[in-house]
Amino acid sequence: MPIPTELVGSLPRPMKLQEAYEDYDQGKIDFDQLKAEQDEAAEDSIKRLEATGSPIVTDGEQRESSFATYPITDTLAGTGLADNLAGDGQYFAIFDDGHHRQLPRLTGGPFRYKTFASEFVEKNKRIASHDVKQAVIAPSMLMLLYPLEEEIDGYSRDQFLADLCDEVEKDIRQCFDAGAVRVSVDFTEGRLANKNDSRNPWTGKDMLDEFIALNNQVLDRFSPEERVNIGIHTCPGGDCDSVHSKDVPYEKLLSKMFNINAGYFLIQCASEDDKEKVYKLCGEHRRDDANGVSQKCFMGVIDPLTPDVETPEQVRDDLLKAAEHIGAENLGATDDCGFSPFSRDVKPAHGSPDFARDVAMQKISARLEGARMASEELGI
Ligand SMILES: [Zn+2]
Repeated sequence: MPIPTELVGSLPRPMKLQEAYEDYDQGKIDFDQLKAEQDEAAEDSIKRLEATGSPIVTDGEQRESSFATYPITDTLAGTGLADNLAGDGQYFAIFDDGHHRQLPRLTGGPFRYKTFASEFVEKNKRIASHDVKQAVIAPSMLMLLYPLEEEIDGYSRDQFLADLCDEVEKDIRQCFDAGAVRVSVDFTEGRLANKNDSRNPWTGKDMLDEFIALNNQVLDRFSPEERVNIGIHTCPGGDCDSVHSKDVPYEKLLSKMFNINAGYFLIQCASEDDKEKVYKLCGEHRRDDANGVSQKCFMGVIDPLTPDVETPEQVRDDLLKAAEHIGAENLGATDDCGFSPFSRDVKPAHGSPDFARDVAMQKISARLEGARMASEELGI
């Protein structure tokens, strides 16, 4: 079987769609008008991905406020926030360029999703002729909705975590039921967990083991056959062409991440200074038997944060080197991150989000061609 390849999930939102989100926040258009813009951009994403030959497509997350907040708010400004939440929660991340993203704060129970990702899968299945995947958010991210130190009156942390795991399980199952062939779980907080950023207290609380245990609480509800198609995505962040945790030594995460009983991993690597070190760590720590599944490593061969388009030859060479350490049979190819995980992102290094969409398609084409060339060279 040739090296399997898929994107993480998101694509830049066209400027027209970003303006529609803004107009919706300001009450200039209603939700149906916003939805029409989202649907148009989603359809364009699918069509353009299919034109590259991508075997698996997404809608580029055009209908999502962000990869992390789609279940609980319609926009990043907090329009359409779910029940029992307020806007002023913890920083999810402070990025290297100085901007930050903030999560809502839980004010009481019960915690319930207002939007499940299967809603997008259903719509995308009606448009796509190729297989559809969906990215969902990890429980380890949404556990940060609960205040870091204090308990909420009448809604204990334990009760919240139990409710959260139920919602995430439902989110994943419903995506498969709606026809997704794969579901990947975004785990960008993994590397950030060892950041020790004094401006962002949760990153100094050594929460990685807790994150992994919580994610396994959900994954362990799925059979090995199901988990073959459940992935985990790790990256040092990717927003407004900036990162949040690339300075955290990767081995702190990679030595533990494969304890998550997922079948495959989408692993940022193209933007690392020492890629071979990452291949070695992955080869060393991936497991042939993670509670019944053999773990595949989809290595990032494309950097979505720069407008420089990788060549197929670069992709091929990276994958051949990775195969030496990971084994061709355990190898896949992906991008380092989604191309725009948050709905408001003008892609400053690219000049505009519309140009960044064009660049993304060129990069994805290079990944596909490079993976094909590597497979040929490996005789698989
Ligand atoms: Zn990412």
